[in-house]
Amino acid sequence: MTVTYQSREDVPEKEKWRFEDVYASAADWEKDYQYIESMLPKLKQFDGSINDGASLYQYLSQKEEVSSKFNLVYVYGMLQADVDTRDPNAQSLVDRAKQLAVKMSAASSFFMPFLLSLEENTLKGYIKQEPKLEYFEQDLLDAFRYKEHVLTKEKEEILSQLGEALSAPSHTYSMINNADIKFGDVTNEEGMKVELTRGMYSKLIEDEDRDKRKEAYKAYYKPYLQLKNSIASTLAANIKTNVTLARLRNYPSALEKGLFGDKVPREVYENLITATKANIAPLHRYTQLRKEKLGLEELRQYDLNVPLVKGVKLEISYDEAYDTLLQALTPLGKEYAAALKSFKDSRYIDVRETPGKRSGAYNLGVYDVHPFVLLNHHDDLDSMFTMIHEFGHAMHSYYSSKHQPRISAGYSIFVAEVASTVNEVLLIHYLLNKETNEQIRKHLLNHFIDQFRGTFFTQVMFAEFEKITHEMAEAGTPLNVEAFNKIYESLFRQYNGEIVVFDDEVKYGWSRIPHFYRPFYVYKYATGFASAIHIAEKLLSGDQEIKTSYLEFLKSGGSDYPLELLKKTGVDLTTSEPIDHALSRFDQLVTEFSK
Ligand SMILES: [Zn+2]
Repeated sequence: MTVTYQSREDVPEKEKWRFEDVYASAADWEKDYQYIESMLPKLKQFDGSINDGASLYQYLSQKEEVSSKFNLVYVYGMLQADVDTRDPNAQSLVDRAKQLAVKMSAASSFFMPFLLSLEENTLKGYIKQEPKLEYFEQDLLDAFRYKEHVLTKEKEEILSQLGEALSAPSHTYSMINNADIKFGDVTNEEGMKVELTRGMYSKLIEDEDRDKRKEAYKAYYKPYLQLKNSIASTLAANIKTNVTLARLRNYPSALEKGLFGDKVPREVYENLITATKANIAPLHRYTQLRKEKLGLEELRQYDLNVPLVKGVKLEISYDEAYDTLLQALTPLGKEYAAALKSFKDSRYIDVRETPGKRSGAYNLGVYDVHPFVLLNHHDDLDSMFTMIHEFGHAMHSYYSSKHQPRISAGYSIFVAEVASTVNEVLLIHYLLNKETNEQIRKHLLNHFIDQFRGTFFTQVMFAEFEKITHEMAEAGTPLNVEAFNKIYESLFRQYNGEIVVFDDEVKYGWSRIPHFYRPFYVYKYATGFASAIHIAEKLLSGDQEIKTSYLEFLKSGGSDYPLELLKKTGVDLTTSEPIDHALSRFDQLVTEFSK
């Protein structure tokens, strides 16, 4: 059984982050805070006085220094708030950091309009005058792409001051979802009624006992149904803000604004949806298979996650899981494994679920410090996959920080999901190869299929939901509970097939997805998954060339646009080939499993 902790103090030190890695004391934090504040007027003084290579360089290097300190100030508060969202001290650090961010962006808001008012030749002349500007060159030229989308100086300043207000819908949803929400009660192992947690839900929804699944499902959706109007209002406000900003900033659509930063053409997004829907039959086949294997008259949403192979319950402790995944990653070489091994003892990982801790899992790479991985670990297969997923991100951060200068170390989310998913695919192959027990092998195959469904198909469905809702807002169609329900229900049917019998809860799926507050983001899980399938299969075939080019990819951080970085590993997402290949792989998996 997973060890459970009622309080953070009970968790062993070695399984908790060391905040001192960021700042030795709160006083040091305060010192940086004050320093940044004192620097802001100096940054603002550059407004109107950048007129040659030297002054441009001075501004950019001072701005970089302030930003890198700010990053630490923000991270220090955020990490502490995430391990206990109810901690008022941590919350106040975050609030102060956010206020500072607003001031910082106000002090530097003059720069983009200034830069874009320059003639390209003038800028190139500055770079010639001051050789040290070469460090900033790529960023400066990237910024030129925004020429059509940057407003006048006065308008930019207004938008910058409205920053906090414009992010209110997302912030409110996050408070509802992480701090205020109270799930319904479920029956625990001792037959007592206890309040459901997210961690419990992910286990209970896979329980072989259908009544338990149903109880958890109903308890989980209960608060979302109760809060449906509030949540519809935060989501609609968020979508409308995106649409308004896209219009103000002269983008053809909110979608194109969402894709602009990665320089991803609209067609890549649309191809993903089209190609997936054209090949949706294997997913319908799998849903049908699920109904048969479970021997159900009616297949419901709470039957979609239970493993189809009965009696296989893998209990894997955190330590065991860690050892296993180091083995699974051997195709990436010794250096990779050794670095990852050191993360554990160095306390880069906050392992356990405790009351008030932020749900889910993430990695946060901090350039001047190290990667921070947040987990809510349970001793099961899912948790092992979550670990290897986040460790993929953490290693990507580690390599990029080590091999890239600060300015290009940060990688985009687009490439991030490749690094995490390659690891997951390597793990599943490792486990399938090693396992001799037929039941367990079937269970693992089933797990992979479900992973595919969750990381690929469901994300494509979400991506389509975002596309439709933003287009509705663009057309002036009202967005409310009924509208969201209708779209969600229709998409759910198209993707999962007509086999699922609907409970009232299904159509409220939109209300529980935090990712919808980061528009046009989830499709990257699907493109990342398809790319990863391709890379992992090559790695497993022993191809040395891909090992080298893939490690290079991890080391290259954000030194180029994502589609370009991926091309170096042989994946070209401007064609539908990687998507089609992944879909045919899914078809094979379903066929293999049904035998
Ligand atoms: Zn991820």
